[in-house]
Amino acid sequence: MTNTQTGGNEYDTRMRRAGRLSSQHSFAAEFLDFYTHIAAFQKALRANIAASSGLKSRSTPAADLRDPIDLTVLLPHFRGFLSTIEQHAQPALGQAAHQMSLLPSDSSVASLEAYWEHAGKYDQQVGAFAQFLARAFLQPYAEFRSAQIPKAPMVMTVRVCPLCGARPLLGVLRPEGDGGKRSLLCSFCSEEWEFRRIHCPTCGEEAEGKLPVYVAEQLPHLRVEACDTCKFFLTGVDLTKDGHAIPLVDDLAAIPLTLWAHKHGYARLQPNLLGT
Ligand SMILES: [Zn+2]
Ligand SMILES: [Zn+2]
Repeated sequence: MTNTQTGGNEYDTRMRRAGRLSSQHSFAAEFLDFYTHIAAFQKALRANIAASSGLKSRSTPAADLRDPIDLTVLLPHFRGFLSTIEQHAQPALGQAAHQMSLLPSDSSVASLEAYWEHAGKYDQQVGAFAQFLARAFLQPYAEFRSAQIPKAPMVMTVRVCPLCGARPLLGVLRPEGDGGKRSLLCSFCSEEWEFRRIHCPTCGEEAEGKLPVYVAEQLPHLRVEACDTCKFFLTGVDLTKDGHAIPLVDDLAAIPLTLWAHKHGYARLQPNLLGT
């Protein structure tokens, strides 16, 4: 089995990046250190998912990202996940994980299945802790599936993930020629798709004057990409300014930008895993 299938390298890279950012930015250290524990669990879970899918290689892989999840693979790891969270999270979240571990397993099944169906589309209906637990636990499965599904050619203004229909978590600028090529990163399955640079992914605004960008001094490669028409913002990670950035991880350190955005009346389109 290759590392691409198990995702091992990817999680190692995320953990290394979180450690590095944590040592540089004390204001985000607590979140990043907690994230490292989550990522270590996710790495092991992803390897398990890949191994069990290898065993069932004759079965056809899912054609649609939101096809029902195989809970026979996932459920045996759920208690271990909850105890990881209980050990490392802040007390309130740790308590929520503990409460969930006391529930009968059909209740966990129901909440995981409901999250799988609606994640990234109607998240507001789920409480913050319940959402966090399902999201952190199912993320490796969503990413595994996303990696298996063949990609169709893209139009440049699709505002939700072409694989799973979830809203974007982040904007990403990758170096291309003299500038940067923009894409959006899915909040659920981590698929990345190309997107026009001057275009609001929430309401479609295209007037440059209505799309202010804010950059904080401490983190010059991160930006608030706001929209004065719909008042939503997306955090952007500019890889032309820092090629070592890992968008999913660097976003967890973007606390000064989120504060700025909220102070100026912009709401985040989709929260990150830790709600920073
Ligand atoms: Zn997606
Ligand atoms: Zn807008």
